[in-house]
Amino acid sequence: MNTTHAEDMPQYRMDDATQDPVAIGKIICLARTYKKHAKEMKSEVPKDPLLFLKPASAVIFDGEAIIIPQKSKCLHHEVELGVVIGKKCKNISKEEALDYVMGYLLALDITARDIQAEAKKNGWPWGIAKGFDTFAPISDVLLKNKTIDPNNLELSLSVNGTLRQQANTSQMIFSVEEIIAFISSIMTLEAGDLIMTGTPEGVGELATGDKVEAKLGELTALHVFVK
Ligand code: MG
Repeated sequence: MNTTHAEDMPQYRMDDATQDPVAIGKIICLARTYKKHAKEMKSEVPKDPLLFLKPASAVIFDGEAIIIPQKSKCLHHEVELGVVIGKKCKNISKEEALDYVMGYLLALDITARDIQAEAKKNGWPWGIAKGFDTFAPISDVLLKNKTIDPNNLELSLSVNGTLRQQANTSQMIFSVEEIIAFISSIMTLEAGDLIMTGTPEGVGELATGDKVEAKLGELTALHVFVK
């Protein structure tokens, strides 16, 4: 029988090659963290963060392809700030939240919007709409340092050179500290877990052959294409 070893698990790519490898753990995603995106989805802004999970097997990296699954006819891009947890924590306060962060990255929460719409209509969970292989492209990790303020980062996404999404993480309805503290009140966060903090307005459809470029200010970029 084949067994899976820790070294077979997908690992982050770091902006500093001297860092020890870190396996990608669970991916916790937020919905409706930007008011204008909630509005474009005709959804209410939540009182507490809304969470769903994405499997680590969905991760791809810079230069790789998002594959349109046969079950969907409508894939959407969602550009998001990703927060990588560096140390195990549970029930932490927002004041101590950033002490548990390893770094930040650019993430795309690729969504089968047609499958999600069907799920919403029926009150079903979103695991299928969000969980296909290749539905979580991520950039290298920018290791945390004092010059990165996660609550003031420019996010943008272009498709074939046309700007589709642009926002600043300061527009989120929850701070990164509040998001980490809230999640830690529900589930233990472990080193290597990734939080996708939600997308701003401007989500839209992707088609075969599209070239997607996402940017986190001048700090990093992510290029993927659609197959
Ligand atoms: Mg999202």
